[in-house]
Amino acid sequence: MSHTLAIIKPDAVESGNAGKILAHLETAGFAIRALRLTTLNQAQAGAFYAVHQGRPFYDELVEFMTSGPVVPLVLEADDAVAKLRETIGATDPAEAAAGTVRKLYAESKGRNAIHASDSDANAETEIAFFFSTHERLGL
Ligand code: GDP
Repeated sequence: MSHTLAIIKPDAVESGNAGKILAHLETAGFAIRALRLTTLNQAQAGAFYAVHQGRPFYDELVEFMTSGPVVPLVLEADDAVAKLRETIGATDPAEAAAGTVRKLYAESKGRNAIHASDSDANAETEIAFFFSTHERLGL
């Protein structure tokens, strides 16, 4: 079993889809191993997405991610990173496969309902960004 980080983004929390997305992830075979609801400030969202600094959509992304509560969670499955990327679908919901979280719940490429780590190394860093040592040691 391995772990990955997901974040249910402000658009999905605001539209009342957080519970449906959690159910979708559980049905897809993930175990929820850590979870919280939090609102990111500018510094936190900027740091989380530092890799995108300088990209044309960076300011919009930070503004969006600070616009309301988010739900970060740690998911466990076999090959969790790849499995979650497949389960959420393409970044742009217009290109996402049928039945994926983004096809079902995302509004646009920017407001796209959910984040998922894109490698095991990033999953470890991103889990540590949101969850404390005592939560991580419980995984
Ligand atoms: P992901 O790994 O599928 O989330 O996609 P990326 O790592 O490429 O981008 C990170 C996040 O930045 C995406 O999930 C979107 O929320 C946002 N993003 C990416 N491209 C665009 C864009 O062209 N416009 C806007 N507004 N946001 C974007």
